[in-house]
Amino acid sequence: RVKGLSKNDYRFFDREMRISNQRAFQIKNDLRIGLDNNQFYLVYQPKVSPGKKDIVTSYEALIRWQHPEFQEVSPGEFIPLAEELGMINEIGDWVLENVCRQLKAWKTNGYDLLPVSINLSSSQFLQADFVDKFWSVLHAYQVDPAWIQIEITESLFIDNEKYVQQILKIMKENGIKIALDDFGTGYSSLAYLQKLDLDILKIDRSLISGISHLSIKRKIATTIVQLGKSMGMKVVAEGVETKEELDILRNHDIDEIQGYYYSKPLAIQEMSEVLKTKKLGKS
Ligand code: C2E
Ligand code: MG
Ligand code: MG
Ligand code: MG
Repeated sequence: RVKGLSKNDYRFFDREMRISNQRAFQIKNDLRIGLDNNQFYLVYQPKVSPGKKDIVTSYEALIRWQHPEFQEVSPGEFIPLAEELGMINEIGDWVLENVCRQLKAWKTNGYDLLPVSINLSSSQFLQADFVDKFWSVLHAYQVDPAWIQIEITESLFIDNEKYVQQILKIMKENGIKIALDDFGTGYSSLAYLQKLDLDILKIDRSLISGISHLSIKRKIATTIVQLGKSMGMKVVAEGVETKEELDILRNHDIDEIQGYYYSKPLAIQEMSEVLKTKKLGKS
């Protein structure tokens, strides 16, 4: 037994654990029903190029789930469970197809498009038929690859470096831009950065929040920006919430800012408006 913990504490943990296990169990159970009953939808978060005029230059597609009992279940909770269950491929297919359908609708209605980034789970990327499926969806909706960026994380490279390198090369040769998401968490091996020829580096929110009052975070962020830029990547900061954080990043030649300061993820209607003007309320 851990020193300093009483029997009551253990009972409390035990109870908490059981509740969260029950919830996870039910969520896993309900993913299939959710997919079959249109409970998932997409939101879109603008990314802003900070300058004299702040202009929206791209945006990220993020999945949402309106669960009949739990209301909104966040992807941070259900994506890992879908991965465990082997359902992430289907969810990933759903996301790609729905993004492409939306792009086609916007295009048909005369909107001037911007690149959209799509999150890919590692297991989704590693499916043998991933590339084929990916292109057939783009083709089906007549989507120009220039409109699509994919966001991957460093966990993808573990044990699969050579293979991943090959697939990324094919994607890039066909005009898809590759972003490394959540940089600064997890493994952050500089060796990967050097080998992989990525287009975009996204600095994780955990390194951004507090940047205005923590000089160590400021130093780390500055170094990452310089590193990314020196390797020819675009650098994006995630999770920028305050004016103070923004001002610091502005001084660091950052390419894009994503975060609540400019905009939360938007519903389709709101994103349509943004595409018209390429501006936000704060711009
Ligand atoms: P991510 O790809 O790093 O996405 C950024 C997350 O940060 C989003 O959370 C976004 O809503 C949130 N965010 C953006 N700006 C701010 C801010 O200023 N403050 C705070 N507190 N949060 C901010 P979300 O939508 O809950 O997604 C969480 C994670 O779930 C994503 O992290 C991504 O890893 C995963 N995810 C979301 N959609 C998909 C998807 O379609 N496929 C896959 N495989 N994963 C997805
Ligand atoms: Mg992302
Ligand atoms: Mg991220
Ligand atoms: Mg993140």
